[in-house]
Amino acid sequence: MKNMTVKHTLNDELMMGYAAGILPEAFNLVVATHLSLCDESRAGVESYEAVGGAVLESTETAKMSSGALADCLKRIKTEQPEVAKAKPSEGVFPNPLQAYVGGDLDAVKWRSLGNGTKQAILPTAKGATARLLFIPAGTAVPDHGHHGTELTLVLQGAFADEVDRFGRGDIEIANEDLNHQPIAEMGEDCICLAATDAPLRFNSLLPRLMQPLFRI
Ligand code: ZN
Repeated sequence: MKNMTVKHTLNDELMMGYAAGILPEAFNLVVATHLSLCDESRAGVESYEAVGGAVLESTETAKMSSGALADCLKRIKTEQPEVAKAKPSEGVFPNPLQAYVGGDLDAVKWRSLGNGTKQAILPTAKGATARLLFIPAGTAVPDHGHHGTELTLVLQGAFADEVDRFGRGDIEIANEDLNHQPIAEMGEDCICLAATDAPLRFNSLLPRLMQPLFRI
């Protein structure tokens, strides 16, 4: 799979949050997966990591003994996610995601959402949910708003909504202000990795009734 140019990248908030290691696990997974597809975001995160390290060094040197500082820096260094430098994988799923799923696309245990749409919830810590979404080519996801933040990373195919078109490696950052109806492009089924930190707010009754069942 080619590493095509990514058009929709991370915002500063997410880059900083990721560099600082403070994102919920589900968001961390989406960002790490995006980083292995997007040189621009990876460079951004690396510069935040460098700034973070420099700030730490200048503020802490005065207060801490050199041994304590060395320990601290060492700890930060070892805790830094390896994924930022991960090599792009050959499959549909980049390496950070393969590690979660335990393989590529064929290892996913899908659950039907109706209309050919499927999802697989990935095990992450509480506070945010990560899921894989399979949207058949030409099919729409029910239109919905968001209570919190939703990150959607395209891994295969493409979708379009009120905002733009999103292809492999692109990440859409949706929040309370956005009401959208993503539609998978014709030609190829669309597979996305999405993370939400609050339940979505669906605009029609049926999807709303299904919400507790599917933990959307
Ligand atoms: Zn959404």
